[in-house]
Amino acid sequence: MDRRSFCKTTLAASMAAAYPLIGGCGQKTATEADTSIRAVSLDGAEIELEKAAIKELGEALSGPVMLSGHPDYDGARQIWNGMHDKRPALIARCLTSEDVSNAVTFARERELLVAVRGGGHSWPGKSVCDDGLMIDLSHMRNVEANAETRRAFAGGGALLGHLDDATLAKGLVTTAGVVSHTGVGGYTLGGGFGRLNRKYGLTIDNLRSAEIITADGQVRTVSEEQDADLFWAIRGGGGNFGVVTQFEYEVHPFDRNVLSGLIVWPIDQAPDVLDFYAGWQEGLSREMYTGPAMLTHPEAGNVIAMEVVYNGDPAQGEKELAPLRAIGSPIDDGVKVQDYKVLQTHEDATVAHGIRSYAKNAMVGEFSQGLVDDMVDSYIADPRAAIFTHTCGGAVSDVGETDTAFPHRNAETMLVFFTGWMDPAQDAEGKQLCRDWHAALEKHSGGYYDNIEQEGDTRVARNFGPNYDRLRQIKSEYDPGNLFRLNSNIEPA
Ligand SMILES: Cc1cc2nc3c(=O)[nH]c(=O)nc-3n(C[C@H](O)[C@H](O)[C@H](O)COP(=O)(O)OP(=O)(O)OC[C@H]3O[C@@H](n4cnc5c(N)ncnc54)[C@H](O)[C@@H]3O)c2cc1C
Repeated sequence: MDRRSFCKTTLAASMAAAYPLIGGCGQKTATEADTSIRAVSLDGAEIELEKAAIKELGEALSGPVMLSGHPDYDGARQIWNGMHDKRPALIARCLTSEDVSNAVTFARERELLVAVRGGGHSWPGKSVCDDGLMIDLSHMRNVEANAETRRAFAGGGALLGHLDDATLAKGLVTTAGVVSHTGVGGYTLGGGFGRLNRKYGLTIDNLRSAEIITADGQVRTVSEEQDADLFWAIRGGGGNFGVVTQFEYEVHPFDRNVLSGLIVWPIDQAPDVLDFYAGWQEGLSREMYTGPAMLTHPEAGNVIAMEVVYNGDPAQGEKELAPLRAIGSPIDDGVKVQDYKVLQTHEDATVAHGIRSYAKNAMVGEFSQGLVDDMVDSYIADPRAAIFTHTCGGAVSDVGETDTAFPHRNAETMLVFFTGWMDPAQDAEGKQLCRDWHAALEKHSGGYYDNIEQEGDTRVARNFGPNYDRLRQIKSEYDPGNLFRLNSNIEPA
């Protein structure tokens, strides 16, 4: 792009003011390489990036291009899961779609390995790489919501908390996940499960358009009407098809004071709670979201908990919830009318940035008696391990398995196996705990949700099922050189 014309825009001026490290146009001495640097190509070969080319990229971007030694380099390369400590050759902190386009073109022309960082929550660490280019969207996080048009627009690096805040302030909402520091980018492109999905569907079911920079550097707006194939593919196909710089969501009128909270029982009551839940959940209204979690709590000890959000008249919700509340003897019942954000943020600190973590999941077709028995038998009493559930059904299954790229529409529940610890010496044990718990319940699985899976790479084709061939065709049209490969990779046909 023409750097001089960009510098004239007000947008560039306001960004330079907001991010002083960028300096004024043409003054990015911090990003200049003293010599050429070594990097790695898409297929792992060593390549050299010339000093002049790096300088040119630095001058073309409105955000800084950071090399090791830049004061923001270490902060930018750190992602949520402390297990990943990778050092990109370059980090391009993009502030505009043009920046992203320039960074993509730079990488494609050199066949340079590329990682795209949205919110940085990738469990397997796909948003950072050693010796490649990291396209960092973390400063493209503006979100705007409009009550008249019932639309929200979120930058590709925004977090779910930004989306919730902007929509709730206008009396609106759309499906967003359960931890507010998760990025909208990877989250939406993989599907998007949250506490309102039974009523509004997955986040991709609320996506109306996206601005995406494809491997050729082109900035495209895709929707049902425009590049419909590509729009289909990004609704579940992950970051395979380009860098999304803006998402447009449909949003819904919403009273943020919802009947919500947790009911907690000692773990020895798990058989009763799960037995009841297995039969009861089939008849749940779409307004009701509830599902079990089994964990070891620092104060309460070994427990089974049920999370509740009723997205409707609280009096009606109380009636629907009454049978669950009558099961066993809970040690805590915190379900009351409260701000939706209380639950949307209550796990934020427990799973704060820097935790070392492993995760697997299973999309379960039926919450059967066999599953109940196996959940009870397999319980691991360890403060590092937990099972959570994302309850599906309702609006999630109104959409057919080939209507979007995300195929697992008929699952009743997603079981999430999570382990977290802080001490690197526990890495092997922490991983194994997660694998063991998953293995004990795997026979109930009909596939997995790619966004919460650390071992998906070898099972991509099977997991996309009937959508895989179409995804490969679309990949070969928009990314024939497989530039965007740090994801659950779909190889071009
Ligand atoms: C603590 C925690 C809680 C979670 N809770 C939920 C939940 O409730 N519901 C749910 O559905 N999922 C949940 N997830 C999973 C989450 O959806 C994925 O980790 C998702 O990939 C996070 O997106 P991100 O932008 O933060 O990730 P990143 O690490 O930035 O990226 C993940 C992948 O997406 C790509 N990517 C990211 N942004 C873009 C973009 N703008 N354009 C193109 N590609 C992009 C990256 O290249 C990478 O391949 C959770 C994850 C964590 C760690």
